[in-house]
Amino acid sequence: MVIDIHVHTRHMPGPNRPGTDQTYATPEQLIEMYDEVGIDRAVILPGVNPECSHHIQSVQDVLQICEMHPDRFIPFCNVHPRQVKNTPDADLGHLLRWFKDAGCRGIGEVTANMPFDDPYVENLFHHVEEVGLPLTFHVATQEGGAYGLVDDLNLPRFERAVQKFPDLVFLCHSQAFWSEISADVTEENRAGYPEGPVVEGGTAAELILNNDNVYGDLSAGSGFNAVSRDPEFGWWFLEEAQDKLLFGTDVCAPKNRSDVLINLKNFLDESLSDGKITQQVYDKVIGGNAVRLLGL
Ligand SMILES: [Zn+2]
Repeated sequence: MVIDIHVHTRHMPGPNRPGTDQTYATPEQLIEMYDEVGIDRAVILPGVNPECSHHIQSVQDVLQICEMHPDRFIPFCNVHPRQVKNTPDADLGHLLRWFKDAGCRGIGEVTANMPFDDPYVENLFHHVEEVGLPLTFHVATQEGGAYGLVDDLNLPRFERAVQKFPDLVFLCHSQAFWSEISADVTEENRAGYPEGPVVEGGTAAELILNNDNVYGDLSAGSGFNAVSRDPEFGWWFLEEAQDKLLFGTDVCAPKNRSDVLINLKNFLDESLSDGKITQQVYDKVIGGNAVRLLGL
């Protein structure tokens, strides 16, 4: 079973991203793309955060899409830390429990552009931990002109959240997370796709290997880069963290056919056929870990 842990779609595609001819893929376009490359099911992450979405989506829209294609799509919910009351003690659990009862298996992609240790964000973490859903997040390197939870080089704020919310499962994603796979990441390249050999001891690798509640979402160019920029390291890491890594694409538009839809899938398929990773590792990363984590 091949499961995409990270995708975005809209019933009604809506306006294009400013300055481009692209907008979100429809569920039907996604299914066509998935059939081409052999992806069975996908987790839809609702775009509720104004920092990221060029137009906003409701969780109910995602639930409806999943109801129309129950064998293909799995719903996550999403809640902005300022929702409900715009206070750091708002009862976000009220929303989360409703979404969970409606079938949502997790929350994300959290792209609110606030620091990891902001009281509003900690309130969200607290309620998500209590309700018991895994949480997918994007990391930003700055406030303003960016989207995602803000952290510094080497992710000290995220690391404190991992300790402070030990029962909250984090699905880590984005350039500023995966650039930390290598210990030589710098302030200059942490928001991008650093190339070349991985230096042992990177924060991302350490966090995943040493904490039960930290998982790696391998979607997008960032996750693909983390395991493929230095293939020897990538194969070692896939073996070591085989229970903690999840295949994903982060398709955001029909044009993603040529990149994120196929890059990681091809890398994993070739690594398996060349004997660089075992069938067991492949099966877990490509879908088995998602089945276990989300209780599918
Ligand atoms: Zn995404």
